[in-house]
Amino acid sequence: MIATKAYAAQAATTPLTPFQLERRNPGPHDVQIEILYCGVCHSDIHQVRNEWGNSIYPMVPGHEIVGRVTHVGEHVKNFKVGDLAGVGCFVDSCRTCPNCQAGLEQYCDTGMIGTYNALDKEGKPTYGGYSTQIVVDEKYTLKVPTNLPLSGVAPLLCAGITTYSPLRYVGVKKGHKVAVLGLGGLGHMAVKFAVAFGAEVTMLSSSPSKKADAERLGAHHFALTSDKQTMQQLANSFDFILNTVSAPHDYNTYLPLLRTNGTMIVVGVPPTPSQVPAFNLIANRRSIIGSLIGGIKETQEMLDFCGEHNIVSDVEVIDIDYINEAYERVLKSDVRYRFVIDIASLKK
Ligand SMILES: [Zn+2]
Ligand SMILES: [Zn+2]
Repeated sequence: MIATKAYAAQAATTPLTPFQLERRNPGPHDVQIEILYCGVCHSDIHQVRNEWGNSIYPMVPGHEIVGRVTHVGEHVKNFKVGDLAGVGCFVDSCRTCPNCQAGLEQYCDTGMIGTYNALDKEGKPTYGGYSTQIVVDEKYTLKVPTNLPLSGVAPLLCAGITTYSPLRYVGVKKGHKVAVLGLGGLGHMAVKFAVAFGAEVTMLSSSPSKKADAERLGAHHFALTSDKQTMQQLANSFDFILNTVSAPHDYNTYLPLLRTNGTMIVVGVPPTPSQVPAFNLIANRRSIIGSLIGGIKETQEMLDFCGEHNIVSDVEVIDIDYINEAYERVLKSDVRYRFVIDIASLKK
């Protein structure tokens, strides 16, 4: 076993503190990765605080991991020592169900095995990226482009693929009008991808202070959702709305902005359900779809795309001992747009 420094939550109500864990010795198909950066996802906070009711303690969060390969098992084909590597939201799945076979491991019929807060196939808890190293099967390990700043790459493994995958699924391209609802960790990546795919992009936000950032990120237009007149003018104008908002909100406020056949894509997870009257969908044949991260093949495609187009997340790099304050700031949306932990601070 490999002794590994980490930060963990011991319970839902206590702050994260230093923790020692053991990684498995790499098997024939495993890569061992020295973690360099790990992003801080809002779902880390939900799980640390047991807000989804399924938390396993002690919990080492973190599923936006980039690092360098320090060891490879004898059958590993795609990685060698010294390569950059990434790990996202899951580290295994059943590998045999129709979804796994189709490269949709995130929808595995028996459930993907989360990078943390899950049990592996031997029933042992998985521990995430707020740690100095991790051992993962190469099939669930991503290649990381070498031309990008690594701190900005880390959030691509969750925030990046969460927005890339649905925009690809619905086929966003030049000629489409896309609205991105909510400018946070997900929203800022959605703007970058939709612009890179050639769409005309409008940022929909309730906060006028986000206008300058939306433009800097590449959005062509900015619309204030609190302005009734603006919202009326935007009726029937978008092919797609990518809804990244995790605060309570009413889908019905935004559905009228969709054109005939328009689609709202939900990737945010509000704590309360939204009720949609059938007529709001029947009229103009609008639809609402959801999307969860992306499979391994598509996550690799996304990382390669980011390498080619120089796309990274906008980040604020922090030391590990700032993590509890960082959580408070995430809850206040006081970060532009993702905290990323410099794991060197954990090795001190
Ligand atoms: Zn995440
Ligand atoms: Zn499966």
